[in-house]
Amino acid sequence: MALQLRRLSLGLAKFQQARNASILTSLPETHELLRKTCRDFAEAELKPNAARFDKEHLYPKEQILKMGELGLMGIVVPEDFGGAGLDYLAYAVAIEEISRGCASAGVIMSAHNSLYLGPLLKYGNDQQKRDWVQPFAGGDKIGCFSLSEPGNGSDAGAASTTAVTSADGGWTLNGTKAWITNGYESEATVVFATTDKSLKHKGISAFVVPKPTPGLSLGKKEDKLGIRGSSTCNLIFEDCHIAKDNLLGKPGLGFKIAMSILDGGRIGIAAQALGIGQAALDCAVDYASKRKAFGQPITKLQSIQNKIADMALQLESARLLTWRAAALQDEGRAFIKEAAMAKLAASEAATFISHQAIQILGGMGYVSDMPAERHYRDARITEIYEGTSEIQRLVIAGNVLKEYGV
Ligand SMILES: Cc1cc2nc3c(=O)[nH]c(=O)nc-3n(C[C@H](O)[C@H](O)[C@H](O)COP(=O)(O)OP(=O)(O)OC[C@H]3O[C@@H](n4cnc5c(N)ncnc54)[C@H](O)[C@@H]3O)c2cc1C
Repeated sequence: MALQLRRLSLGLAKFQQARNASILTSLPETHELLRKTCRDFAEAELKPNAARFDKEHLYPKEQILKMGELGLMGIVVPEDFGGAGLDYLAYAVAIEEISRGCASAGVIMSAHNSLYLGPLLKYGNDQQKRDWVQPFAGGDKIGCFSLSEPGNGSDAGAASTTAVTSADGGWTLNGTKAWITNGYESEATVVFATTDKSLKHKGISAFVVPKPTPGLSLGKKEDKLGIRGSSTCNLIFEDCHIAKDNLLGKPGLGFKIAMSILDGGRIGIAAQALGIGQAALDCAVDYASKRKAFGQPITKLQSIQNKIADMALQLESARLLTWRAAALQDEGRAFIKEAAMAKLAASEAATFISHQAIQILGGMGYVSDMPAERHYRDARITEIYEGTSEIQRLVIAGNVLKEYGV
């Protein structure tokens, strides 16, 4: 399978130009192949197990390893560093299909690819890529991203975790990071800490920290509403010493690194939301086609058809926005507004669609015998992490006003 993804990667360049012309109507062949590979995997390995992962708060270890074998745990990492060498459109397509099968697997993949590997690929030097990307690109090891703190999430520039230089030229970290996805399973984290408080957000720096490391401990696993197969916890740094070479980029570059990584990460969360929304629509249509009321299938009822129309409309609009944002990122063009639009549209679509799916299923929508209630719980997080819906609106409005010269 990894070989298959490598072949896709070789064929990618050929399709690079065609892609942009065809993306409004269909995916390029290479991406369609990837989509089918991920869909088959999700149908066989994720969908049948997703309810159990959710109910038992079970990390899908075996499935994540298989996703690594498929090339999905280093999907945009160049082949020189052990990745699949595909593009961001491929990443979005893959995350959607994986999340359609299991939203927890989707977020584990997204946090590892976008948030852990992303900053190391973009800002790491060659040695850091050998040390911190290559061993993680096959999915045997996973990583996490530690930006949020108990006292600040949206206002990430107010980080209170500190890093001070030590006698050997290394760094000593103190503080608590909150809500960290993959916190329990990860073997390294990218962490943001203040190296010069007087410079406020311009005094934040980024580091890579191996796990375990003396002075780094984990808080309790959060008991979440949804995506319960992924772990979320505090990372507590108490005189945690790391080497000089673990600084990413230059001192003071941390806030810029975090913001630029979250811009791209939002495409991954948009794709996760699309997968959850698609799964909810699949479930609703399947149920409605079999359910009868007043002597006829409920699919004949106007109110059910209206719901299905609105669900499909929101899903397909959000998918186009997501693919456009990913294609812009692949072309190296500005994509911040488009990524925020994609995340906002897709996460609100997932919330709406999963809400409607419960209504279509009636009583069966409200119990865990059917997946609709899980999709509803899983969808909700996509409006919160990697920037809440309120923050996406700020980003979009800021960019639109700038376009008007306001
Ligand atoms: C399951 C889960 C996984 C997560 N994974 C990670 C992770 O891996 N790494 C990581 O670093 N973080 C992670 N987070 C943290 C997440 O990114 C934050 O929860 C999110 O950014 C919101 O921050 P907050 O919770 O502090 O809310 P707050 O920032 O306190 O916001 C509270 C409310 O105020 C609104 N608000 C805040 N500021 C503004 C503003 N300027 N304008 C308008 N409204 C505003 C918000 O939209 C929200 O409605 C995760 C969170 C969860 C729940």
